[in-house]
Amino acid sequence: MAKRNANLAKLPGGYLFPEINRRKKACQDAHPEADIISLGIGNTTEPLTPHITQALAKAAEGMGMSDGYSGYGDEQGFEALRGKIAEKLYNNVVDPEEVLVSDGAKCDIGRLQLLFGADASVAVQDPSYPVYVDGSVIVGATGDFDESKQQYGGVHYMACTPENNFFPDPADLPPTDLIYFCSPNNPTGAVATKDQLKALVDVARKNRSIIIFDSAYSPYICDPELPRSIFEIDGARECAIEVSSFSKPVGFTGVRLGWTVCPKELVFEDGTPVLQDWNRIMTTVFNGASNIIQHGGLAALDEQGLAEMRETVGFYMENAALIKACLDDMGVQNYGGENAPYIWAHFPGCDSWDVFAKILNEVFVVTTPGAGFGPAGQGFVRFSAFGHRKSILEATQRLKRLSL
Ligand SMILES: *Cc1c(COP(=O)(O)O)cnc(C)c1O
Repeated sequence: MAKRNANLAKLPGGYLFPEINRRKKACQDAHPEADIISLGIGNTTEPLTPHITQALAKAAEGMGMSDGYSGYGDEQGFEALRGKIAEKLYNNVVDPEEVLVSDGAKCDIGRLQLLFGADASVAVQDPSYPVYVDGSVIVGATGDFDESKQQYGGVHYMACTPENNFFPDPADLPPTDLIYFCSPNNPTGAVATKDQLKALVDVARKNRSIIIFDSAYSPYICDPELPRSIFEIDGARECAIEVSSFSKPVGFTGVRLGWTVCPKELVFEDGTPVLQDWNRIMTTVFNGASNIIQHGGLAALDEQGLAEMRETVGFYMENAALIKACLDDMGVQNYGGENAPYIWAHFPGCDSWDVFAKILNEVFVVTTPGAGFGPAGQGFVRFSAFGHRKSILEATQRLKRLSL
């Protein structure tokens, strides 16, 4: 009989969001009349914008005509889309051949773990987006979970706290093979500056580490001084892969379209270009992003599409400002929400699941407990700015009634 993958047994208590949903459902069962508002899961809520929707509809209709139909395409994505990503989002500092289009950043992170395998040593920001650690667990790269520390023995956790402005000193990094780094950060909303990323890149080059840089929220950066890509930093082409996505900037969470950038200069210890193996993985276990959706991606990057993207991002950032102002009024210390759609609220000395439960059961608002993102998230809850305006306004009214 098939044996269970022993690595899967190392994952404690299941994925964070199913647990949140379980608690939300229990609250709803206990209060059937309550209208629960979710500011928990980072899921987009606003409809696709007109120009992008039209491009998707037109591409779908084309598939129903003999001269518009297409089957499998290049696994790496439309040439035109790879070129447009390189031009519009990276100012041509990356080459279209280095851009591989996919069905999303999370999926790419999973496949990158396949690329590096069980022997890769890893460092992660703590707190962090769950797939960096959980995906590493599944491929066997983390060792066992230590209940007392709430950490995996084989992972180096870089604590990101108010004390270090959510940027750990790269000089403290041991020489790991991989460094997962997300900026703008989910969950803390922190964005690294150019100097900070330069310090990280310098240490990665010294230690011969590869940075896996997640820029899924880069269009949310409002401050023109802040870097939107690791490839704005000198030396990053020798030490970094970037993963990114159309999910959050244009609401493609359910549509599915992302990409990676893997520079040609990046090599393994034996000199093999990482891009060569990454191409091999993508052409082997992935069969290309949907052709219909790629037309949506092309539309999102033309002039009209980029204007619509700015509108969508602007809408969610207004939500973020409303939530931030509410927490400020309540006297709750909070971070982020200025260049990222997440607000990281601090409740010093409290257990983050207790704060989550209190907010849920007293005012029927769902947040995300910080401890779910790693041990340094203890004492925090995350508010997501993804929501209809009416829900955000209602949630802020209710939060003010919370007995803190
Ligand atoms: C939402 C999110 C993604 C996007 O993943 P997709 O699979 O492209 O939808 C990637 N990274 C982070 C940190 C996210 O929060």
